[in-house]
Amino acid sequence: MKFALTPALVGTLLAADPASVLVQLDARADHYGQLSRQIWEHPELGYVETRSSALHIEELRRAGFRIDTNIGGAPTAFTATWGAGKPVIGIMGEFDALPGLSQDAIPDRKALIEDGAGHGCGHNLLGIASIAATAAAKEYLETHKLPGTIRYFGTPAEEGGSGKVYMAHAGAFAGVDAVLAWHPSGRNDATPETCNAIVRANIRYRGVAAHASAAPDRGRSALDGLMLMGIGIEMLREHIPQDSRIHYVITKGGRAPNIVPEIAEAEIYVRHPRMAELQNVWDRVQKIAQGAATMTETSVDILDVSGSWNLLPNQTLNKIIDHHLRSIGGLKLTPEDVKFAEEIRKSLPEAVRAANPLSLATEVAKMRDTGIFPASTDAGDISWIVPTAHFGTATFVPGVAAHTWQATACAGSAFGRKGMMIAAKTLALTAIDLLENPAPLAAARAEFDRRRAGVTHRSVIPVNAKPPLRYRAK
Ligand SMILES: [Zn+2]
Repeated sequence: MKFALTPALVGTLLAADPASVLVQLDARADHYGQLSRQIWEHPELGYVETRSSALHIEELRRAGFRIDTNIGGAPTAFTATWGAGKPVIGIMGEFDALPGLSQDAIPDRKALIEDGAGHGCGHNLLGIASIAATAAAKEYLETHKLPGTIRYFGTPAEEGGSGKVYMAHAGAFAGVDAVLAWHPSGRNDATPETCNAIVRANIRYRGVAAHASAAPDRGRSALDGLMLMGIGIEMLREHIPQDSRIHYVITKGGRAPNIVPEIAEAEIYVRHPRMAELQNVWDRVQKIAQGAATMTETSVDILDVSGSWNLLPNQTLNKIIDHHLRSIGGLKLTPEDVKFAEEIRKSLPEAVRAANPLSLATEVAKMRDTGIFPASTDAGDISWIVPTAHFGTATFVPGVAAHTWQATACAGSAFGRKGMMIAAKTLALTAIDLLENPAPLAAARAEFDRRRAGVTHRSVIPVNAKPPLRYRAK
């Protein structure tokens, strides 16, 4: 493998041959592939990823890491550390699944368990690529007797549980110089991206139950309150900043039509790429919720407020990632991979296929100065605490969106495992580069300070809050 000489900020891996790291990762690709598949076969929801977390811990303990568990009050949150002193480089991993996205690793819709959980966001690949990279970086430090610390962050409940925020509140990221993170994607791309900040809450209306036919005048419907809130939100949509997002589901809407509902509940997400604007929209949504309660003579409580910030990009770190991703290149697809991809793509709309050619997986996209992905992640908060870099590799067949059955199928397939190993290699080379040549860390810190200037990062989640360990049990 050829390594081009690098621009000023990019480290040069002088001490030893980085190709040995790649050879070693290739030799272990089957092992890591099996681990990712084991997690895929036993998908676990946020904060109850007991088996998945234990599997990660066992792997890193065996590799010689010091393990800290139960971080921030979440039993499945852990860190694994090796080495001593500066610099301290962190790599984040996730392992939670999504409800209702159970799916076989085939190109047709077929749930393995009806309405069961599935890895529709590819976190089975996310955690294992990060482990593979962390272990490779550790071996490199050890072999070359280099100073520095490498730490894996086992972060639970990314899907709506904000696991990383509770870990941060517990001080897990203190003293870390840079954090590297990746996410399954439909392309190989190291563009430094931001995303939407998010506020989540449960909104509960309380009314008065009555016989809906014999004594309707004595009832006050909690469901009416909730539905009027929804109508208010639909009207609000026209008068908020364009980039905003508001979505909700009704989680309780009454038990029987002949009982005026006493309780009605919705779970709501409000998003915007900037926290200040998001706060404005969220304040207005809360006023609407109150107004609907007034109209219906019900009461409303806004409960379990949580959320995360938008990602603060770090171009300095992403340039280093891009350099290494480019040296590794995209997926090398076999005829079987291509057949699988083409079959999956048949289930996508023509326009989506046209906009996302298969070549997105085999090539590395040109790095843009900045981008935005319109979802949210609890990695956002971390990026305001430590310089953080985030990138994607093609584990999903191009055109496949996250949180779909197609994404679950890809996450369990050979195609997905190839993208996973590209992420593992990119993370490993970047971590080693930063450990061996820490100079860019000062530049990354300066960029971080510059981007953060004038903004006070205050988590949506209070510092002393306990993680909602049963948020998926509803
Ligand atoms: Zn995800």
